[in-house]
Amino acid sequence: MPKDSFGREIDYLRISLIDACNLRCVYCMPEHARFAPLKELLTPTQIEMVARAAVTVGYRKFRLTGGEPTLRPDLLEIVERLAAISGVGDLAMTTNAVSLPKLARRLKQAGLKRVNVHLDSLNAHTVGQQMKWATFEDIWAGIMAAEEAGLTPIKLNAVVAAGFNEGDVIDLARLTIERDWHVRFIELMPLGTGECARLSIQRYVSNIETRRRIEVALGRLIELPPASLADESRNYRLPNARGVIGFISPVSEPYCGNCNRMRLTADGKFHLCLLNDDELDVKAALMNGGGEEKVAQILLKAVALKPTGHHLLQGRSTKDRLMHQLGG
Ligand code: SAM
Ligand code: SF4
Repeated sequence: MPKDSFGREIDYLRISLIDACNLRCVYCMPEHARFAPLKELLTPTQIEMVARAAVTVGYRKFRLTGGEPTLRPDLLEIVERLAAISGVGDLAMTTNAVSLPKLARRLKQAGLKRVNVHLDSLNAHTVGQQMKWATFEDIWAGIMAAEEAGLTPIKLNAVVAAGFNEGDVIDLARLTIERDWHVRFIELMPLGTGECARLSIQRYVSNIETRRRIEVALGRLIELPPASLADESRNYRLPNARGVIGFISPVSEPYCGNCNRMRLTADGKFHLCLLNDDELDVKAALMNGGGEEKVAQILLKAVALKPTGHHLLQGRSTKDRLMHQLGG
């Protein structure tokens, strides 16, 4: 198992397939964002090569993300290639679910295990304001399609933003009473130096506040033991509920000490920590015919260079990359 210089086991690779998206969530990307041309993105063969190299050094857990991964025209091929690698234990995807009604069943057949779906509110007006260009109905239809296709357990990710959806957390949390879903509330993080970063700072809501709001409305939450040390979500259950409520609190309760993640950007860089700019290029090695062994060497170097953690409380984050380029 690859260990970094602080003794953390880094065995989870999040693969961003594309930086483009069909939505414009206000904290993630500006309306007129510019995207890398498709021809500059890693090909399915190159992504498979990186995943094979990762498996040889001990990675078992993989997640596809973006941007919106379902916008990749070759998504099914990528899933098939990764699912066929022996040693890939877990293959999941984070998505806004808009394309799942037409894709969910084929993704399952291709070997995808489960999806995390991004949905900030059950209120159609709030969804339209916060997750611009989305409709609640489209995302909900995507979640239903994922459940029907067996892309389970379903996890929902809701980013909480003041003045948008901070009151809607109660209805989202209530979903867990009847459904065995895992609804997770995420604190806003500022990335980059533009309007999304400013909004993420101005509209930040602490998960202490979100939890209090849920408990006032729905009753005391029962704390659950962590699924694993590296689980970034602190998990709870409402009395007699089928599902789980989680809080992901990178700002109020950083979990960097237990980080197990490496990120691969769509343009072929290992991005060492979500909230820092440090990267190592792997695409050049792939283009120059470097095989699995060379990629594994670069990956181990990336692990060794992983920073201890983020510096959000000192006012520092990424300068070069926004969330849609990294995948969360
Ligand atoms: N498009 C997919 C989606 O929305 O799930 C995958 C990519 S998106 C960048 C991954 C996750 O990042 C989403 O679940 C979203 O909630 C989260 N996210 C985006 N911008 C964020 C921000 N500024 N702070 C915290 N989470 C953010
Ligand atoms: Fe798109 Fe996901 Fe970013 Fe929203 S959070 S704009 S759905 S990439």
